Amino acid sequence: MAKKKESLEEKLGMKKKSMWLTLKKSEIKRAMSFAEDYKKFLRDVKTERESVDYMIKIAKERGFKDLSKAKTLSPGDKFYIHNRGKSLALGVVGKKPYEGFRLVVSHIDSPRLDLKPNPLVEDSDASLALLKTHYYGGIKKYQWVSTPLAIHGVVYTKDGKRIDIRIGDNPGDPVFVIPDLLPHLARRAQGDRKLFEGIKGEELQLVVGNIPVEDEEIKNKIKTAVLKHLNEKYGITEEDFNSADLEIVPAYDPRDVGFDRSMIGAYGQDDRICAYTSFRAILEVEEPTYTSIAFFYDKEEIGSDGNVGAQSNFLEYVLAKVLSLMKPNYTHVEFLDILYKTKAISADVSAAINPLFKGVHDIPNAAKAGYGVVISKYTGHGGKYGSSEATAEFMAEIRALFAKHNVPYQVAELGKVDEGGGGTIAKFFAQYGMDVVDMGPGIIGMHSPFEIASKMDIWSAYLAYKVFLSQ
Ligand code: MN
Ligand code: MN
Repeated sequence: MAKKKESLEEKLGMKKKSMWLTLKKSEIKRAMSFAEDYKKFLRDVKTERESVDYMIKIAKERGFKDLSKAKTLSPGDKFYIHNRGKSLALGVVGKKPYEGFRLVVSHIDSPRLDLKPNPLVEDSDASLALLKTHYYGGIKKYQWVSTPLAIHGVVYTKDGKRIDIRIGDNPGDPVFVIPDLLPHLARRAQGDRKLFEGIKGEELQLVVGNIPVEDEEIKNKIKTAVLKHLNEKYGITEEDFNSADLEIVPAYDPRDVGFDRSMIGAYGQDDRICAYTSFRAILEVEEPTYTSIAFFYDKEEIGSDGNVGAQSNFLEYVLAKVLSLMKPNYTHVEFLDILYKTKAISADVSAAINPLFKGVHDIPNAAKAGYGVVISKYTGHGGKYGSSEATAEFMAEIRALFAKHNVPYQVAELGKVDEGGGGTIAKFFAQYGMDVVDMGPGIIGMHSPFEIASKMDIWSAYLAYKVFLSQ
């Protein structure tokens, strides 16, 4: 077949097309089937703990071994190690293990509502039992009212027994709801408020019961009835809420969006879209040159603090552990040298253009749905504050890699310069001297309970992470 003549636009590097037009039919079919797997993952996994459990289960079946119990490591070995069931690393040892690592780092926590430590109250005026919440991460509170919600998490009893809770996802399960105010009476109570205060933090309370116990002696009859139910069903008491991680998440399943089913709408795609695609990628890495590791962190949405966040020393711990199992007497200088040679992708989502609010984007520098995974040379706010900018050299290296392997991508910024901004875990990894760049699909309606992503961008992220980790 004759080679098509290169157009002037192509020659000048001006050409960007939707992946829906550039991908072969057979590859679009593979991307659509990948999206089905991803939807199942989003349906089954809605919290960081559930992500870690899900990934370890599958990784074990695929021959990944527990790094905390390993005695030695050799090239080709696959390993996993978790941190308190909330953060995880999955890796494959490379043929040149001292030449730096290849890391793809995502986060598995998502914005949500957590139950307060003393959450259960009764409102006798309304004759209802309520659960009080404390929101986690950057939510628009008004998006969480009058929508079905589920409770996920763990409770530890006084005796240290772990009780797993997951209520609201199965058809037949009850759900919970934060009731919004009827418009008829909202003119003053809500109408005079600014949008972000339409619902306030302390108003995020779930309706959880209406039936009282039949006992004249008891004051809070509905609260007591709810506790009685919880005690009978789960063996927990009111005090046990003090030792619990209970998260409130949307109760509905992921869905296809659009007549053409081109997109997925679901809760928690920031950042489980990157977590799932990099998870699938690391599962398929075989005998890489460099040791490849996919990290999955908790606590990104609240600043990556704490012992399970990206600012903890879990990274150093895992890398040192891997090295020590190959070369027991490696020196600190050797370790630093390997860190400097390491290259990483901070796998987190970007914002795709929202057609209703285009004004927040600089269009030539904004991500379009369906144009591939978004590479962000830097994040941050204002004058690039809080960002670790990728060097021109590293950007060139990534471009060359993706060109060689036909990975579609786009380069964009989050929004207009003075519009706002956001950070990722990139800077915490860059501190070690490694090259890091941000890369992930563009999302429409990020941090909402129903975020939208193009199936092409999901596929592109998977290809990008796989090529990077397979080096
Ligand atoms: Mn994120
Ligand atoms: Mn986020």
